[in-house]
Amino acid sequence: MNSWKKIKTSGTFKRKVKKNFYKILNINPLLFQKVQQPVRSTIYPKPETSSSIESAGSRETDGGYELDQNRKLHLLDESERWELPAYEEEYIDPDPADETFANLRLLDNLRCWAVKNNIRHSVLNELLAILNIRLSNILPRDPRTLLTIQSVDLQQMENGQYWHQGVKNCLERVLSESTGPSNISLKINIDGLPVYRSSKDEFWPILINIDEYPQVAPMIVGIYAGKQKPTNVGTFLSPFVAEMEKIYQEGIYINGHKVIVSIRCFVCDSPARAFIKGTAYFNAQNGCQKCTTIGEYSYVSHTNYFPRAGCPPRTDADFRNKKYGTHHKEDTPLLRLNIDMVKDFPVADSLHLIDLGIMKKLLLGWRDGKFGSLNTKWPANVAINLSKRLLELKMPREIHRALRGLDCIAHWKGLEFRTFLHYISIVVLKPILLPEVYEHFLSLFCSITICSSENFTDLIELANMLTIISRHFTEKITFRVTFII
Ligand SMILES: [Zn+2]
Repeated sequence: MNSWKKIKTSGTFKRKVKKNFYKILNINPLLFQKVQQPVRSTIYPKPETSSSIESAGSRETDGGYELDQNRKLHLLDESERWELPAYEEEYIDPDPADETFANLRLLDNLRCWAVKNNIRHSVLNELLAILNIRLSNILPRDPRTLLTIQSVDLQQMENGQYWHQGVKNCLERVLSESTGPSNISLKINIDGLPVYRSSKDEFWPILINIDEYPQVAPMIVGIYAGKQKPTNVGTFLSPFVAEMEKIYQEGIYINGHKVIVSIRCFVCDSPARAFIKGTAYFNAQNGCQKCTTIGEYSYVSHTNYFPRAGCPPRTDADFRNKKYGTHHKEDTPLLRLNIDMVKDFPVADSLHLIDLGIMKKLLLGWRDGKFGSLNTKWPANVAINLSKRLLELKMPREIHRALRGLDCIAHWKGLEFRTFLHYISIVVLKPILLPEVYEHFLSLFCSITICSSENFTDLIELANMLTIISRHFTEKITFRVTFII
């Protein structure tokens, strides 16, 4: 699970998804921006016209580009006009170090220039020959290759478009040269990621990983692109579920051998998990994905909290029979698959649950005194001194982000809370917290430390005991469990 999180949160991964999407579509990302005021000199012709450009005298019409001499025509109407990327224009959010992105941009610019100026194939051929002396791995040798744009099937969804590459395509590419096991199980990851910092565009990729082949990088099954998250889980997941149903029934034949494919689990963060299951969100009163506990609203913290632990666990059968009331929000296509709707969705989201969840709530509660009767509010000088200490700390080499003071806690990243919890907390909190509060915190620290490293696997039972002791301790000191998630 940790490796998934690392991959998902890395900039490299985000760039890879962007890059793949543009590469697959073979278009420039700027083409996503529709032109508000059509500009005659900035029209980008449809792909199918590009192969017949050599001798066709192209001319502009009021409706956009038109090719004559019985060539294929494509007239661009108002709704299909896209802005041509200017050669000198900067992209909205490019990464200069990303060579593939830059190569795609070069190809796009060359293609647009050739089409706009009606460059003959013979001339383009000479130009490519010259450029290929230095750019042999980037540009094609043949002008027809440069001017041909692959067509891809994009499905229109409510607020965006969806491209489906398919599970079968991904698996065939990886397994065709392997001699590994013929029974494989897939880990599936679904989550959203922003495309640019300056716009609302976002991708929702569906990724798969083969559990039996950990060395194989995650593969992209489909990508949704839109201005916001997919609004309808049924539409969004239908292509994927339809293909998986078929694969479940028939299996996949690779090199003449049948491969049995199953789903091992869905790895998602809390909001995405609730979305694809069609359930209430994690902060709703009926939001726990694993048990039937009911939350209560706290007028102290203005959040839902879950005072009762040890409630009966949810089961696949009851979930499918919709016995959990407001826990169910809508039907998900995943119900059509032979999976366990409870156990196959592990809750392993330490970023939202622990770093930005418990640790943030604890620090804010101690700093601002939000723990009611426990009266833990730090005096101003304690908070200031702790901030100073955090700023002066020299962190180990593996920590890349320095901590900021408590005055900036609203802007702390998840990694800062994580660093605080794992490396700093037990030292700096000891002289500040009341002894019983510190002891309570230690049980949290120890159990999370045990669960965070494979080196402590044999201590899992101890971690379990610590959480139980912590709960009894909480009740004993009448601690208002307002913030316990
Ligand atoms: Zn629960």
